[in-house]
Amino acid sequence: MVHEICDITIIGGGPTGLFGLFYAGMRKATARVVDALPDPGGQLTALYPEKFIFDVGGFPKVLAKDLVRSLLEQGTQFGGTFHGGQRVTGLEEVDGHFVLVTETDRFPTRSVIVAAGIGAFTPRRLPQPCAAPWEGKGISYQLGDLSEFDGKHLVIVGGGDSAFDWVDQLAARAAHITLVHRSDRFRAHAATVASVQAKAANGRVTMHTFHELSDVIATDGAMTGIELKDIKAKSTRRVRADCVLAMLGFVSDIGPLAEWGIDVESDEIVVNSEMQTGRTGVWAAGDITTYPGKLKLIATGFAEACTAVNQAVHWIYPERKVNPGHSSNLAIFGQKDD
Ligand SMILES: Cc1cc2nc3c(=O)[nH]c(=O)nc-3n(C[C@H](O)[C@H](O)[C@H](O)COP(=O)(O)OP(=O)(O)OC[C@H]3O[C@@H](n4cnc5c(N)ncnc54)[C@H](O)[C@@H]3O)c2cc1C
Repeated sequence: MVHEICDITIIGGGPTGLFGLFYAGMRKATARVVDALPDPGGQLTALYPEKFIFDVGGFPKVLAKDLVRSLLEQGTQFGGTFHGGQRVTGLEEVDGHFVLVTETDRFPTRSVIVAAGIGAFTPRRLPQPCAAPWEGKGISYQLGDLSEFDGKHLVIVGGGDSAFDWVDQLAARAAHITLVHRSDRFRAHAATVASVQAKAANGRVTMHTFHELSDVIATDGAMTGIELKDIKAKSTRRVRADCVLAMLGFVSDIGPLAEWGIDVESDEIVVNSEMQTGRTGVWAAGDITTYPGKLKLIATGFAEACTAVNQAVHWIYPERKVNPGHSSNLAIFGQKDD
């Protein structure tokens, strides 16, 4: 499908890209966000939707998924659109404008803002061959609706923050949780490890360290349990399991961005104070960027998105100033004329 040309196409619908979508609309630029993942929110949706965030201005605390919902509402209010499931694989220049190319679509655009975070990321999969046939049928790598786990016997595999966070949070919903990890060293936050260990002490959670998945047990085509192998003793044990959540981290890939004539160092885009990338018409913002003193935070991405959008708008329409003034004075919000 070939889309209409717009002023700004943002690669990446994390917090930076979604705020950029809003800001472009506020600057009366036509804009869209294109993302490899099906849903908006970037890391907030894929990695920690149920975690509270405490350092976003104006919110003493906000659930990651709620922040994404608000960003989407704010971002699309001027007609900007989110296109999920569109991994950008190419950047072409045609008839004086860019075209962003995905596997299925072409997105003509006058300018590009790369807000690709840590790149397009996919969950690291369980390496055991017995897991593959059960992916999506009992074994999953991401969480959807948490009520799916109500009253279930759940196995969570992993030793990092995600695994421990989910054991901690789902313990109240699941009938029982078994945590499986290949070592006895955990990469999770000490307070969360302590909380999970307390749940293990009162029987809500069972922890099996130095264990890994060795087989899936099924009855009438449905998963009923798994077999675990003790990698030290070489023995096996069976554990009841309605579902398995493998929280083994993500593999990220910035893909073709490095080939676009933009300054890339160690999978990050080197930008100047105007968020310029080294290629005319292409700006960058958010976690993907680097410069001395860079902080990889949501708040930083918001500010960088403003800068990148303002620069792009002025570049496309030189009569529009770089600095838009204050939103509290803008006519687009029904305030006095700007
Ligand atoms: C567990 C955890 C907790 C955190 N807690 C906090 C916190 O409390 N406070 C805070 O400020 N920050 C926190 N962060 C960091 C914060 O999430 C990031 O700084 C933020 O998500 C960066 O936003 P972004 O939009 O730049 O990138 P991302 O959120 O990474 O979004 C980038 C998007 O670009 C897409 N993309 C990449 N490549 C392509 C491509 N080729 N084509 C199409 N789409 C592509 C990806 O699919 C992704 O959706 C936390 C991070 C983690 C992992």
